[in-house]
Amino acid sequence: MDIKKSAFSLSAPSIGLCPTDNKIEYAFIGRSNVGKSSLINMLCNHKGLAKTSATPGKTLLINHFIINDSWYLVDLPGYGFAKRSKTVQQKLQQMISSYILQREQLVNLFVLIDIRHEQQKIDREFIDWLGESGVPFTIVFTKADKLGVVKSRQNAEKWMKQLADTWEELPPYFVTSSEKRIGREELLNYIDEINKK
Ligand code: GDP
Repeated sequence: MDIKKSAFSLSAPSIGLCPTDNKIEYAFIGRSNVGKSSLINMLCNHKGLAKTSATPGKTLLINHFIINDSWYLVDLPGYGFAKRSKTVQQKLQQMISSYILQREQLVNLFVLIDIRHEQQKIDREFIDWLGESGVPFTIVFTKADKLGVVKSRQNAEKWMKQLADTWEELPPYFVTSSEKRIGREELLNYIDEINKK
């Protein structure tokens, strides 16, 4: 599959205000600054579609983009932004978890991880929670160009191996770089395969 057409649809402050036309959704989530906007723009070949911002954690809404007139790409707010107040953080968590657990149109969640970093507690806890909740998800390592091919591969494998401490079956994963457009075709084909099932 290629993405030939992409456009912003709406920003929803809660699951109740998400689109009602029943199209399937693929959502993207990760810590602030992980490279989520860049990845979305790269996948869609659409500069400026998702806002790449120097201010981390600016998006506090569930953003829907309509793709090829047939499905929604959903940009979820970044988690784990320390500068947010406790109240905002709690509200966000509630919005994110109700979307992930209750949104029937959600087919798969892509969890973004910066490939340069050791496994962070906040990512691990989030992923463990997805597993316990039975949410279908895929891990997407970002910014692979910063490490190069070999080191990226090694880091991704190490990261996944750590998951295997407690996980019997590991989720699928991809290594990407928005800068170098690595992993674009693989991810889009993967979405295509899920759609065919
Ligand atoms: P978001 O907060 O998760 O949406 O992250 P952004 O997409 O705004 O990216 C955060 C920062 O990382 C920006 O300075 C981007 O230019 C940079 N960045 C994002 N993706 C890549 C990548 O694949 N390679 C490199 N080298 N930098 C990236």
